[in-house]
Amino acid sequence: MSKQLVQHKGLSRTALVRLIRRLDLYEQWKRAVFIRDRFTCQHCGARNGRKRVIEADHIISLTQLVKDNNVGSIEGAAACLALWDIGNGRTLCHTCHEQTESYPIQLRKKKTSYASKSRNSRRGAIKNC
Ligand SMILES: [Zn+2]
Repeated sequence: MSKQLVQHKGLSRTALVRLIRRLDLYEQWKRAVFIRDRFTCQHCGARNGRKRVIEADHIISLTQLVKDNNVGSIEGAAACLALWDIGNGRTLCHTCHEQTESYPIQLRKKKTSYASKSRNSRRGAIKNC
């Protein structure tokens, strides 16, 4: 199948990345990153708990990986090993994660539309990045 057909067949890149974040593979990737990093922020050393939320950060963003590897479908994403390489992941606390360039823009916008303390950030749960 030609490159163009793959691009036009499916979803927009943003929609595809949103779906990728819902895959079991994505949950497994996050878990593997957390375990490797012992549930500890790799920038400030904070551990996951009531006061700090840890998140798994893609050093090269998912959007960039989808683009670079020409991923055009959810099946293509599942088969793309670069997306699931824990070498491209690191555990960060929410505060440190927000300061990275790869922090998802849509989450950044959401955050500014609420007060600085959302319910999620107070709960101490492990969130999606
Ligand atoms: Zn941190």
